[in-house]
Amino acid sequence: MSLPKLQWAQVVEEAGGPVIYKQIPVPTPGPDEVLVNIKYTGVCHTDLHARKGDWPLPVKMPLVGGHEGAGVVVAKGQLVNNVNIGDHAGVKWLNGSCLSCEFCRTSDESLCPDASLSGYTVDGTFQQFCIAKAAHVSILPKDVPLDAVAPVLCAGITVYKGLKESGIQPGQTLAIVGAGGGLGSLAQQYAKAMGLRVIAIDGGEEKKELCQQLGAESYVDFTKSKDLVKDVQAATPDGLGPHAALLLAVAEIPFQQAAAYVRPRGVVVAIGLPAGAFLKAPVFSTVVRMIQIRGSYVGNRQDGIEAIDFLRRGLIKAPFKTVDLSELPKVYELMEQGKIAGRYVLKVPEPDLA
Ligand code: NAD
Ligand code: ZN
Repeated sequence: MSLPKLQWAQVVEEAGGPVIYKQIPVPTPGPDEVLVNIKYTGVCHTDLHARKGDWPLPVKMPLVGGHEGAGVVVAKGQLVNNVNIGDHAGVKWLNGSCLSCEFCRTSDESLCPDASLSGYTVDGTFQQFCIAKAAHVSILPKDVPLDAVAPVLCAGITVYKGLKESGIQPGQTLAIVGAGGGLGSLAQQYAKAMGLRVIAIDGGEEKKELCQQLGAESYVDFTKSKDLVKDVQAATPDGLGPHAALLLAVAEIPFQQAAAYVRPRGVVVAIGLPAGAFLKAPVFSTVVRMIQIRGSYVGNRQDGIEAIDFLRRGLIKAPFKTVDLSELPKVYELMEQGKIAGRYVLKVPEPDLA
């Protein structure tokens, strides 16, 4: 099979600038890398942070964003023996890591100081052909649909890991903040599959309907609630507040509310990354109620395999809308306005392969 020299991609030329749909060269994989012909790619709010350049982490420019890419391996380097041409593969946020530091050795690869990040420090999945380190690429079972698996590759893995980090047990109550968004809708599905009771927190009727469809027991609308802490506690079966909260919203306020509504010994897991925001909790009640506050950042390779297997076994089903790669600017516009219920998945045009 001969690969084309040029491919279609969405490129950000400068931080804060627009995405430009244009043709760029098809990259060549290095000795430990694979080249994946991306068929579908999810759009994560992280991609919008990268386009805006609003995080305290330098972003590559010009940049091809995207890190929820599902496709087919079309080329590989000479050292690659764990991936074959023709395999279905997922390109994730963690594009590669050193594999030899303490964090990589103890399966905390996302903490590797030399990690490379798809669609952030290296070009990502908003293109027809994307490079990924063979050690980190997810091999996808062929019975898993490439469109439905795309959002699992970041949103799914991230919330699956966050649930593990929360230490929550089956039968306990979980507050999901930003429940109607991309991460939130998948978090609801994983929580349900794990036997948790879900309080969904988000804004507006469309998100309310989605959360109810996804199996949330109650919905607290942050745009309407006069006392969010009280309303969340009242939504738990015994009124004591949830056992844990997953913070997925791209706003600072929830990061300053959650410690107050979780029950004693409750765990607050910060996952969303609103720019310039701070976590805040009163010292006295955090101490005497034995509250834990922790961060959770994507997942390791095994978390990826497990999160994808939930999809393969039919345990999670999160809604997504599919549009063409060329429509990325419209998706960003809707995302900025908080108008996306669930996830958008981009269909990448088929390349001319001779
Ligand atoms: P999204 O835009 O799809 O969803 C965010 C949701 O939060 C929306 O539904 C919005 O209505 C809701 N929201 C806004 N303000 C709220 C409030 N005050 N209370 C409750 N809900 C509120 O975004 P996403 O793709 O799900 O990403 C969410 C965040 O997670 C982003 O900041 C992203 O960068 C981050 N993220 C972190 C990791 C990680 O590893 N920690 C991984 C992926 C994404
Ligand atoms: Zn993401």
